[in-house]
Order: sequence, then structure tokens, then C-alpha cells
Amino acid sequence: MQDVAKRLDKAFQAFYRRVKGGEKPGFPRFKPASQYDSFTYPQGGYKLDGKKLKLSKIGDVRMKLHRPLEGKVKTCTIIQKNGKYYACLSAEVEPKQLPYCADAVGVDLGVRTLAVTSDGEHFKSPAYLRASEKRLKRLQRSVSRKKKGSNRRKKAVHVLARLHEHVANQRKDYNHKVSRGLVNRYGLIAFEDLNVLGMTKNHNLAKSIVDSGWSQLVSFTTYKAESAGRVVKQVDPRNTSQLCSSCGVVVKKLLKDRKHHCLCCGYVADRDENAAFNILKRATA
Ligand SMILES: [Zn+2]
Repeated sequence: MQDVAKRLDKAFQAFYRRVKGGEKPGFPRFKPASQYDSFTYPQGGYKLDGKKLKLSKIGDVRMKLHRPLEGKVKTCTIIQKNGKYYACLSAEVEPKQLPYCADAVGVDLGVRTLAVTSDGEHFKSPAYLRASEKRLKRLQRSVSRKKKGSNRRKKAVHVLARLHEHVANQRKDYNHKVSRGLVNRYGLIAFEDLNVLGMTKNHNLAKSIVDSGWSQLVSFTTYKAESAGRVVKQVDPRNTSQLCSSCGVVVKKLLKDRKHHCLCCGYVADRDENAAFNILKRATA
């Protein structure tokens, strides 16, 4: 009951923040019982005991502890997701500062490769992730072919939801690894400002998959950098792929042109590496 009030407050605060910021406000929606799939123990009423989680009013539940607990546990939220139950324990931990690092890097986000750095590192999206995304599209089609309200559609929706969760987990895992790598090696990490790109308004499945991968990578890197005492900057992304990072003139390119070749100063580079350099230059200017 306590946490319900907190959730409602959070929804309204976010609503007012959006109104003030001039965004599309989106008034908080009524949540029917069918969509209410989690509840929180805000302070007590739960206890970890070996392989069991003791929940008050429910009893002892067998569980898999997927990693040892750190810090002081504050709340416990029980979540039901695609037929599985999760206990989410939030804890207060001290940030782990990393030693000072003067190296800076620019990161260009892309479709073919998730990210390319100004140091020439290419983070391709892994093959298993691309395969899952293909399967996702196929299942999506199988859902839309089935009659609305039918049992066969319900079943197909369930299969699709499970694959969505699987793909989301794969992407999350990969983004955690990439962001950890960046934060460990660089003191300043520069990204394109995704809001300026105006990417949030598309309804295309493939495109929205790519978008969500980008913003997740940026947000993972940002929070990891914060607790490590490192800096993430987001810069204006306009023209980063067209400008020459060496002399600054505009070198017109089509999407299919993978190489940057400057006729003015003779600089030759990979298209995305050139863009990453421009992003780095804007962040350090
Ligand atoms: Zn040039």
C-alpha cells in the first residue's frame, strides 16, 4: 500500500516534468488489475535464508540467487513477467571510483555496427542478437496474421512476448559489456545527443529496435561513468558524418559510401571513425 502511493506520485511528478519541459505530457494512465504485475516490500517483511526467500503474508519461496548481495538492502519488489517470478532487491552501495584517466574517446552509433570509436574500435552487434531480431520479425508477422481475439493469436502473442524478453536480455548483456569496456578505459566518453536526432517518433520495428539499443548503451555508460568518477558528454550530432575531422570541410557522402576521403587535405578514414572523431572534437572543444 505504501509503495502504491509512491508509484502514483512518481507517475505524476514525471507528468509535471514533461509538461514543464514542453514535451508531450501523457497523463498517467489507469492501471487495471490485469496489468498490475508487481508489488513492493518498502522496508521489511522479507528475508533471505539460504535457498529460500521468506515473504510475509506469502511464506517461504524457493529461489535462485543469481549473485551475492552487496551493500545494505533497502527494498524488495516481486515481479511477474512472462510466466516467471522475480524478486528484485535494491541495495545502497558505495560508488567504486576508478583511477584518473586522461584519455578521451568519441563514439558514433550506427545500424550495421552498434558503435565505432575514434580509436578505430568497432563494436558489431553479435550474430546471435541479429538472428534473434530476425526471428522477432517473423513471429510479429505470425501474430498479425491471426484473427483478433482468437486463442491462436493469444498463444502467438505469448510466444512473441517471450522472444522479446530474450532479445532484450541479449541486448542488455551486450550493452553492459560494451559500456563497461568504455568506462574502464576512458576518462571522457562522447556520444551523439540522441534527442536531437529526433529518432523517437518512428513506428518501424527494426528501427525502434536499433534506437532502444542506442539509448540503452548511452544510459548504461552514463551511470557506470558517474559511479566511476568519469565523464559522459552528448554533443550535437548534425553533420558529424559529412565533415572532415582533419580539416573541417564538408565532404558529401551517401549512406552507401563507407569511406571518408577528403579532397581538400587528403585525409582518408573509415566513415564511422571519421564521425566518431568529429564527435570527440565537439566534446573537447
Ligand atoms: Zn579534410
